[in-house]
Amino acid sequence: MEKECWGRIRSELLSSIGKDAFTNWIDPLELLEAGGRVALFSVPTSFIGNWVSRNYGESIIGMLNAEGLKVDRLDFHTVSAPKTAAPETAEAERTVAAAPAPVVDLPGSPLDSRFTFDSFVVGKPNELAHAAARRVAEGGQVTFNPLFLYGGVGLGKTHLMHAIAWETQAMRPEARVLYLSAEQFMYRFVQALRFKDMHSFKEQFRSVDVLMVDDVQFIAGKNSTQDEFFHTFNALVDQGKQIVISADRAPGEIEGLEERIRSRLQWGLVVDLHPTDYELRLGILQSKAETQLKSMPDVQMDAGVLEFLAHRISSNVRVLEGALTRLFAFASLVGREINLDMTQECLADILRASERKVTVEEIMRQVADHYHLRMSDLLSPRRARAVARPRQVAMFLSKMLTSKSLPEIGRRFGGRDHTTVIHAVKKVEELKMTDNQIAEDVEILRRMLEA
Ligand code: ADP
Ligand code: MG
Repeated sequence: MEKECWGRIRSELLSSIGKDAFTNWIDPLELLEAGGRVALFSVPTSFIGNWVSRNYGESIIGMLNAEGLKVDRLDFHTVSAPKTAAPETAEAERTVAAAPAPVVDLPGSPLDSRFTFDSFVVGKPNELAHAAARRVAEGGQVTFNPLFLYGGVGLGKTHLMHAIAWETQAMRPEARVLYLSAEQFMYRFVQALRFKDMHSFKEQFRSVDVLMVDDVQFIAGKNSTQDEFFHTFNALVDQGKQIVISADRAPGEIEGLEERIRSRLQWGLVVDLHPTDYELRLGILQSKAETQLKSMPDVQMDAGVLEFLAHRISSNVRVLEGALTRLFAFASLVGREINLDMTQECLADILRASERKVTVEEIMRQVADHYHLRMSDLLSPRRARAVARPRQVAMFLSKMLTSKSLPEIGRRFGGRDHTTVIHAVKKVEELKMTDNQIAEDVEILRRMLEA
């Protein structure tokens, strides 16, 4: 009789609060008993119980009374979701075939085998994000939940999440790790709704130990998906499971995200990946070039090329990688050494797109200032060391920081020949190795010019 009453109340609630809210909050409830003025429900998480009590408590009590049950209080008994493996689905988009067992039966996105902690280069802009990701991968007590990683495109958010997945699988093979894009989360959710399979959807998501959802900004404005996400999120947090979220901006800046989700996301540790700096770009290039050279041992590469790229290409690591890949492909196809000229030719489009607006004149002015000379000294024919060396430094920087051709640079420096510029660039490259003072001068000047 109580069950029948509850059945009728459910239908009433469905039409009064709408399908989404119903699926989120009412559907998970089961009425256990309603005697002694208390109606006892079982709920999958205490969070749902609290939510229902706060938002629908009075209506439910009213409806129960209208059904003739004398109830003035609701009580919720938490039964955690069964931890058994979720049933296999026949769907595609599985984890890569080589992945160890734990991930295979979860509805995740494939993991890229290159995205590991080993291949992640750490520098100032990403050291905190890296440290937090490492901590999560170590497991143990969950200290911050969720870990929220945010930053612009191509700064390594996805790489870090995959690294957490790989590392967790390696360290704790029994742990159930689920990584997926927010888009895929939505897709799964919509499928489950369509095929009336919410139960196994919920079970799958609630049985994981580590849940990672990438690019969560995607579900902003998609209300029922947000609700379900919020739900899953709460269920896992209640069980002390780790959650890792990424987005392209801070939680507070994602428009169309419900306030309760926003604030919940901020509960944990929010870390941003800053745009890369020169040192990090160089480090990443060195590491990627090493990998490339292993598979193409015949390719020769000039020392200054990586520095040049680190100077000239924007902060997006993906663009940096693309440039390097193209260089190596080109070099191995036409059998040419990778040097500055070849690089400029081969990457003209990329270099133009990320051109910094440093002019040869600015470079001359800064260099003249730095060495206590006048601009006219740099243009003059004087060949005394005290003038010639700074002039070479200025030519070197012009080659590095602008896209002017060698003849053009020569012309700007008092109508010199392009071979003079080539000589200057070579000379400064050598001196940077052997002469600390020059190395330091070049570094200071570069920083000032790029600031
Ligand atoms: P995001 O998800 O932030 O847009 P990704 O994680 O997809 O960026 O990174 C873009 C590319 O740059 C990937 O190929 C990734 O391996 C590489 N990458 C980004 N940061 C680093 C880093 N610190 N070290 C090595 N590779 C990196
Ligand atoms: Mg990404």
